[in-house]
Amino acid sequence: MSNAKVNQNINFDDYKDIWVLGEQRDGHIHPVTIELIGEAMKLAANSKKPTKVAVVIPGYGVKEEVEKLTYYGADMAIYLEHPLLAKFSTDGYSRALSDLILERKPEIVLVGATSIGRDIGPRVAARVGTGLVADCTGLAIDETDGKILQTRPAFGGNLMATIICPKNRPQMSTVRPGVMAKAAHLDKPSCSVETVKPNLTEDDITVELLEVVKSGKKAVNLIDAKIIVSGGRGVKGPEGFDTIRALADKLGAEVGSSRAAVDSGWIDHAHQVGQTGTTVRPELYVACGISGAIQHLAGMGESKYIVAINKDPNAPIFSVCDYGIVGDLFKVIPAMIEAIDKTGSFEL
Ligand SMILES: Cc1cc2nc3c(=O)[nH]c(=O)nc-3n(C[C@H](O)[C@H](O)[C@H](O)COP(=O)(O)OP(=O)(O)OC[C@H]3O[C@@H](n4cnc5c(N)ncnc54)[C@H](O)[C@@H]3O)c2cc1C
Repeated sequence: MSNAKVNQNINFDDYKDIWVLGEQRDGHIHPVTIELIGEAMKLAANSKKPTKVAVVIPGYGVKEEVEKLTYYGADMAIYLEHPLLAKFSTDGYSRALSDLILERKPEIVLVGATSIGRDIGPRVAARVGTGLVADCTGLAIDETDGKILQTRPAFGGNLMATIICPKNRPQMSTVRPGVMAKAAHLDKPSCSVETVKPNLTEDDITVELLEVVKSGKKAVNLIDAKIIVSGGRGVKGPEGFDTIRALADKLGAEVGSSRAAVDSGWIDHAHQVGQTGTTVRPELYVACGISGAIQHLAGMGESKYIVAINKDPNAPIFSVCDYGIVGDLFKVIPAMIEAIDKTGSFEL
């Protein structure tokens, strides 16, 4: 790494403010950016010194999208604009972001734990000579010394570890999408946009992008789904998910699953909800044949309404749901579909 720099004898007082990496793909802002702005504002409010929130967006030709980000309460939007950033490249993004960090010295940098964030987060941390806590599910400010407390599952998810970065700056985390609440959209922008031209040349980009081939599979989008119908071991086999899909289609929902169903090979891991799957917070979560293990609840407990269908009246899922139906899902779901058909439509 040609321009890797290590912080030595750093003065902590030089570092201030919280930065969020604003992620856009083909001009569409990734929802995790809005979640991180919300989280950064909470951290700033609890900080021991005056702290501003900046969202930093690398790209080219995406000014309109950058303007949209000014409506979520951040104090600053920094548009890192360069033709070589038009398409994502590990080299270009890492270089542009780390140069700006070295120049302006933010105290905290938050990055979404997306494929792009997981790629560049550790590289940026190495270039600026700091550490990074990956895949955080909780962030807080330590009341005693103002450091950021970064919590993430450890040892395969069997315990939660809270990690600090005591000796280097900035303190950097990647944060799981879907875990933090999104910042509210404001009527008026909260900040203006500063455009910064990074010093990049073709020689900085060592990989040539020849073609982008989209996956043929329909992408599973649990994070943005308003309604999720999930199946667990109680669906009995891969064909049991036909029943789950039938209800999901009726409700305009995405299909989720427990890990037991994924581990049994009945459905792809992309559908898994929970601690080692996706964290979701839909308006409505329908858990069918899912017992409600703590690791599953960790991924869907923030849903607005939870409906559980389970034939065991003592299943733990019934202690967290808003509406519980004790019964065989293969009888209950067809009855629900019939009821929806009779009503003519379903709206939340
Ligand atoms: C480190 C770690 C990480 C994990 N991460 C995850 C995770 O991300 N997500 C996750 O889901 N799990 C995770 N797990 C696994 C978790 O502990 C449970 O084993 C899993 O959630 C159980 O899935 P289940 O509820 O589908 O199966 P079970 O616990 O076997 O429950 C099946 C349920 O179906 C009901 N049932 C059976 N037949 C019917 C029927 N015909 N109609 C209605 N109900 C019926 C039963 O009464 C039962 O309650 C993790 C575990 C560990 C150790």
